[in-house]
Order: sequence, then structure tokens, then C-alpha cells
Amino acid sequence: GIGPYDRENIFAKILRGDIPCRKVAENDVALAFHDIAPAAPVHVLVIPKGAYVSLADFSARATDTEIAGFTRLVGQVARDLGLDSEGYRVLSNMGENAGQEVPHFHVHLFGGRALGPMLA
Ligand code: 5GP
Repeated sequence: GIGPYDRENIFAKILRGDIPCRKVAENDVALAFHDIAPAAPVHVLVIPKGAYVSLADFSARATDTEIAGFTRLVGQVARDLGLDSEGYRVLSNMGENAGQEVPHFHVHLFGGRALGPMLA
């Protein structure tokens, strides 16, 4: 695994307001902001406000309220950015094989162009 939650990870700092982000939307349990190095015309990250390392951790420990609110924010952001008709991709890197870099659970929302076939 990727270990216990590190309170100094970059997304923890964003949640505390210690470093800035370009916010897209938020609700009680989740925050959406633009990726600093976009890989598509739309590249938004959605993160829970709670301290979860990865999808494995979030799915095991988060409350139903957190899971519902997180999922709703992903869909809301895509809808608000006008992606529903053209489509988009949601992806989460979990752990070493996927190359997860930031140890705070996040999903990537990609859109704004044809994204090509899935990896692997
Ligand atoms: P991972 O590889 O962990 O799934 O993706 C981490 C993502 O976070 C990368 O797409 C990277 O560009 C993004 N990222 C890393 N540091 C920052 C930051 O300080 N601000 C923002 N907005 N995105 C970041």
C-alpha cells in the first residue's frame, strides 16, 4: 500500500488553504479544482475533504454521506462544465502500479476533446 495518511501532502495543504487552487466547485464533503498540469482541455481533480489516502481507503472508511456527496460533485462538475453531451472520462490512480503521486484520494475528470481508447 502507500501507507498512513500524510497531513503534509499537497492536497491536504490545498484543503487547509495553505496553498491556492483554482476552485471549480465544492460541497460539504468534497472539493473540485483544476489540475495544475492539465492533460486535456478540461482536467479537474475532485477530492474528499476527509483524510483518505486512496480509493481503497475511501471506499473502506468513508461514510455513505461522504461517498454520495463526492460522487454527486463529480457529476455536477461535469454537467456544469458542459461535458454531458460530448462525454468525458473519470479516472483514479490507486497505489504504485497506477503511479499515484499525491497520497490524498482524488479522481481526475478529463474532457473537452476525444480522449482515445483506455490504457490496458
Ligand atoms: P496522480 O498521479 O496522483 O493521480 O495525480 C496527481 C495530479 O495532481 C497530477 O495530475 C498533478 O498535475 C496534480 N497536481 C500535483 N500538484 C498539484 C498542485 O499543487 N495543484 C494542483 N491543482 N494540481 C496538482
